[in-house]
Amino acid sequence: MKTISVVAPMYNEESLVNVYCEEMLKVADSLSDKYKFEIILVNDGSRDGTYAKMLEQHEAHPDNIAIVCLTRNFGLEGAVSAGLRSATGDAVIVMDADLQDPPSLLPQMITKWENGADVVTGSRIRRSNDGLFKKAGAGFYYKVLGSLSGKVKLEKSAANFRLLSRKACDMILSLPEVNSVFRVEVPFIGMKTDVVEYDRDKRYAGKTKYNLKSMIPYALDSITGISIEPLRRIALLQIIPLLLFIGSIVGMILTEDSFRSAWLVLFFASILVEVLLIAICVMAEYIGQIMIEVKGRPTSLIYEYKPCKNTKTDNKGT
Ligand code: UDP
Ligand code: MG
Repeated sequence: MKTISVVAPMYNEESLVNVYCEEMLKVADSLSDKYKFEIILVNDGSRDGTYAKMLEQHEAHPDNIAIVCLTRNFGLEGAVSAGLRSATGDAVIVMDADLQDPPSLLPQMITKWENGADVVTGSRIRRSNDGLFKKAGAGFYYKVLGSLSGKVKLEKSAANFRLLSRKACDMILSLPEVNSVFRVEVPFIGMKTDVVEYDRDKRYAGKTKYNLKSMIPYALDSITGISIEPLRRIALLQIIPLLLFIGSIVGMILTEDSFRSAWLVLFFASILVEVLLIAICVMAEYIGQIMIEVKGRPTSLIYEYKPCKNTKTDNKGT
């Protein structure tokens, strides 16, 4: 029988642990003739009664509920990564614990995986329950991310609610980077992807852990994690001194002698700024290359390799 692992990161979610487990156990029960379920509750350094509630659930349902307790709050990405590392299933599903990612969607995701998808993405068709600020912020974030992602195809309006086949999960775990952003890594590995659409519910209980202050560094991590494109776009700034340069020449030709010295200052200043910008662009390009090398991501990922009879046995297709 195949095992499905479900990873649910939790930070100060004491009002959610029981109801989340209850909902998940219902799903596990409804699919128990086909699958075993390993529901991994990741305690991300909660300071309320979350961990005590997790322990109770683990005691009450030792077959299904596993716990990973982190030493402190590492943030959502760290918690997801700890969950992925602990998961033993043939497929691994990552979802928020506040029931905004509906457990009732799991059977559909599992069916898509059984039909051959290595990644099944939960895509929010509507965020009707998010505030205006959150919707606008998220819209801008995904637009910027999408415009910078190059060959990596981002699924618009998809966050962490994903199913990964064992192969996809292992590939994500093989990425050596420290600044790991799950929603950027999943499209990076590629693989056959299917989508389930859903309307995002309201948070069942408790409060969101994200406000403007914590969303900005998160957005910056994903943007710098996806490409070096922002560093390259510094080059666009060169248009400013270039326009000033042209303007200063036109000014020198058209104005009287007494004003000419002012245009001359602008003429030399624009040349100076242009030279500095070129120098910065060259440095930015090298910084970008350093980032790529330090990140150490593989240049490509092999989905399948079938050697022929003449292949030497020590060649693993890597
Ligand atoms: N979370 C976490 N560590 C954190 C922040 C959040 O594990 O430092 C968990 C949180 O408990 C929830 C999920 O990440 O299960 C999503 O958080 P939240 O619902 O606050 O985000 P939102 O849905 O508002 O974007
Ligand atoms: Mg939420």
